[in-house]
Amino acid sequence: MATTCRACDTDFAGVAAFDLHRTGEFAGSGGGRGSRRCLTMDEMKSKTKKDGTPLFEFVDGEVATFKTEEDKAKLRALGKKET
Ligand SMILES: [Zn+2]
Repeated sequence: MATTCRACDTDFAGVAAFDLHRTGEFAGSGGGRGSRRCLTMDEMKSKTKKDGTPLFEFVDGEVATFKTEEDKAKLRALGKKET
């Protein structure tokens, strides 16, 4: 289920986390190349939600982001899988 970013070669536990690590503007709207890029690992680590908890979590080499405890439980289950 992991999503690997072809640009920065980072593994994400889901599309939601993948989407959140992309930042900047898409090319085309302003006639330029756009500033779309990946957040760096340091940027991801420093991102927090409004309540101060980390936006991204790092489990077994995969980056994840979760809104609910239920999602976190899924991540824990994912982390236990045989590889
Ligand atoms: Zn990336």
